[in-house]
Amino acid sequence: MGIKNETIISSVNGIYPELVIIRHQIHRNPELSFKEYETSRLIQSELSKLDIEFKVLSETGVIATIGQGDKCVALRADIDALPMSEETNCDFASINPDIMHACGHDMHTTMLIGAAKVLKKHESELNGTVKLIFQPGEEKLPGGASLMIREGALANPAPSAIFGQHVNPGEKLGTISLADGYIMGSADELYWTINGKGAHAAQPHLGADPILAASHLITNLQSLITKFRNPLNPGVLALTAINGGTATNIIPEKVELKGTFRSFDNEWRYLMIEKIRKFSVGICNLYDCTCSFDPILGYPPLSNDSSSTNIAKETAEKIFGGTNVLSWEPKMWAEDFAYYAQQIPSTFWFLGVMPMNLQVMPGLHNPKFLPGDEALILGTSMLVAVASNYLDKKIAEDKSTST
Ligand SMILES: [Zn+2]
Ligand SMILES: [Zn+2]
Repeated sequence: MGIKNETIISSVNGIYPELVIIRHQIHRNPELSFKEYETSRLIQSELSKLDIEFKVLSETGVIATIGQGDKCVALRADIDALPMSEETNCDFASINPDIMHACGHDMHTTMLIGAAKVLKKHESELNGTVKLIFQPGEEKLPGGASLMIREGALANPAPSAIFGQHVNPGEKLGTISLADGYIMGSADELYWTINGKGAHAAQPHLGADPILAASHLITNLQSLITKFRNPLNPGVLALTAINGGTATNIIPEKVELKGTFRSFDNEWRYLMIEKIRKFSVGICNLYDCTCSFDPILGYPPLSNDSSSTNIAKETAEKIFGGTNVLSWEPKMWAEDFAYYAQQIPSTFWFLGVMPMNLQVMPGLHNPKFLPGDEALILGTSMLVAVASNYLDKKIAEDKSTST
């Protein structure tokens, strides 16, 4: 039943040189979110070479299916890069100015192409259908996942679970980290404009000082986290930019603030956004200023389903070896994979990419971030194995309920 693990590992090792070439090509030609035209073309041409039919969604997204039958499981990779300049000095560094694959999506895309090659080769051994989702725009709101879902990525056929992965510079190559329950937070962008009344600094009574209003607002907002949050429920409110004023003797007309709010609890998240609004307007009014608070709601919190995560864990133990399967500690980063998780059972795991001889490496979104090619082998193998294993389990479940 399904594709044997030894077969998967030897097949992936067999295509490793091809995967390295593909990874270098994608890394060398990074494209910004929702503009991944060349990357999308490369994916389409690799699928065509394998005689896999595909559909283009959301301009640069690609979906395809391998295998047959009603049972369906999805695998997802994000394909976009970041607006930053690469400083790795590697021989396949970005040739596109100020664009870089600094979040490892070149790795994710290559691994899913690798999975397509192995799954297609062993198509007849699959107990169902594997849907591949190559998704644009993970790094930019509203998130490619939400657009792909709106355009039907989870329909016809409808997968009953979805798996995705992210490279993890925080753990060693050869490890995988996963956990069920909440693993990443929501991420809302917060913007304030506080309007006062400009005046000579020596005549404050003729003006309304937006800097003083902003100062009180910033310190008061922190009390929302301590007094309007269940202490057992994590949350973070960070103000990260403050701009206003030009000289020592002028009370400015306005101050602008920026920040982020993150949590694992969608319900509390929306209550907090309204509390922040109420505090912002109320505190600014005390100082005769007005406040416009304009949040942009970002990705929801990401929660792994326990039954699909058990299947992923069991698979990981076979592919990585039991001691290399680590427990993921939840982080307040965000991932638009959360949109799939809101629709169907899902599991997202983290693939260690830190070289064995290092204790630390440049992190995600760092201009020197460069995971080694070797991680392609385990990442690709895990995708194939989890899909095959999931379909086997589904068949077994159906047999046991029908007898
Ligand atoms: Zn990123
Ligand atoms: Zn990423």
